[in-house]
This record gives sequence, C-alpha cells and structure tokens, in this order.
Amino acid sequence: MKDLIQDWKNRKQTAKKRHTKFVKRLSSQKGKKLDKQGDDLDREVFQEINCLDCANCCSSIPPMLNRADVSRIAKHLGMKTAAFQEEYLRQDEDGDTVMKTTPCPFLLEDNACLIYEYRPRACREYPHTGQEEFSQHLKLHAVNSRHCPAVFHILERMMEV
Ligand code: SF4
Ligand code: SF4
Repeated sequence: MKDLIQDWKNRKQTAKKRHTKFVKRLSSQKGKKLDKQGDDLDREVFQEINCLDCANCCSSIPPMLNRADVSRIAKHLGMKTAAFQEEYLRQDEDGDTVMKTTPCPFLLEDNACLIYEYRPRACREYPHTGQEEFSQHLKLHAVNSRHCPAVFHILERMMEV
C-alpha cells in the first residue's frame, strides 16, 4: 500500500494553491451531500493512515482548550486548575486558550498522547473532516492540508471524483 504520509510530505507544498482553489469551489456545494462525501473519505483515508505514525498535529499546532478541558485535564493530573494553566497554557493572539508549547507537552516519544482519554475536545475533533462537519470547516481544510496528511488525501480524492 502507498505510504500516504510520505506522499503528503513530498507533495504538500506544491498542492497549496490547488487545494485553496478547490476549497473555494467547494463552498458553493456546502451541505449534506458534501458532508457525506467527507465522512466516507475520512473513513477511507484514516484506514490507510495511522496517526501514531504521524503526530504532526500534536507536534506543530497548539490545541485550543475550553474550560471543561482545563478542569478535566487538571483533575486527571492531580493539579489545581490555576497551576495547570500556569504550567501548560497561554492565550494566543485571538484570546483563545492554547497549549503553551509545541510539540504538545503531552506528546510521548512513540507519538501516543499521555492524556488521551482526557485530551481536549479540539484534539478529539481534529481534523474536522468526518462526523458530518466537513463543509463547516472548508477554509480550515485548505490550511490543514499542509499540516495533516489525512486532510491532504481527502481533498486529493475529492478532486478525482
Ligand atoms: S493533548 Fe494529546 S492529542 Fe492533544 S495535542 Fe497534546 S498530545 Fe496531541
Ligand atoms: S496530522 Fe492528521 S494524520 Fe497526522 S496525527 Fe494528526 S490527525 Fe492524524
């Protein structure tokens, strides 16, 4: 089987403009049909990509945390919320709460997540290509195709249809 992660590394830069254009075109097709196609391709591509061979999102994009994430993870780590915030979190330029450092401090050497069961909602939902939400995040997909091999290949396969 083709190594989709290596293929993405080889082609992600040259696909940048193509994917941005394609996503713009898709915005006129937003809706259930596109979401269903997103769901199908999300399942298909994630059967061929193991996130544990990649972890590029955890290495390069600081995830956003909401209040529930902060208290759940702090509790799991046996820390007071304020201490957890102080040690691990910062406000980004948009005022959102994100992990202070990349790679994520909870990313382990084997690419597993130390707090997997308790991880932020943003990590659970990334890369927003399945769960009937593909068309809600079109602009994000154009950016994410450079960060996530799965998004890259989902867009590539959509372009073939
Ligand atoms: S919390 Fe876990 S899943 Fe989320 S970025 Fe960090 S290592 Fe990755
Ligand atoms: S970047 Fe995409 S393929 Fe890689 S670990 Fe994250 S979700 Fe999985």
